[in-house]
Amino acid sequence: MVGKESKKKEIGILNPEYQSLNAKKSISPERIESAIHPVMFDADYARTFLVVALHGHLPACPWCKRPISGRQYDRFAQLKKIVCKQCGRKFNAFTGTIFSGANLEPRQLIGLILFIYFGFNTTRVAKYLGISPRAAATWLNKFKAARILKEAKKRTED
Ligand SMILES: [Zn+2]
Repeated sequence: MVGKESKKKEIGILNPEYQSLNAKKSISPERIESAIHPVMFDADYARTFLVVALHGHLPACPWCKRPISGRQYDRFAQLKKIVCKQCGRKFNAFTGTIFSGANLEPRQLIGLILFIYFGFNTTRVAKYLGISPRAAATWLNKFKAARILKEAKKRTED
């Protein structure tokens, strides 16, 4: 069993700054930028990337922390709802994360963070992702509230 600290290090996204967002799991633009590759826009790859970036390789129930394994892990990795064998609560890989309730594809979510990180305005973000400007603005505000764009701001000031 990998220790909690090394698991955090492995995930590389659990910077406390990014975790202040109502204690929700999130992902930094830097983490995504470090993984940019054309394959990232493959739907399956993008989904796996997000699930691993958010949860590492040892995901657990967001409430009781029971580890998810076997066939449940397969469903979890597919972003399907699973029922915890210990506490009985339903969740998926986005539950308790900044993407909770998102109705966008994983590759759209990745693009969303990257485009906002690059400083694109909501009109461009909406256009490139095929979403409404209002939806783009909602996500931008969500990320601002989550402070995951703090580093992006610093980056553009450099
Ligand atoms: Zn549970």
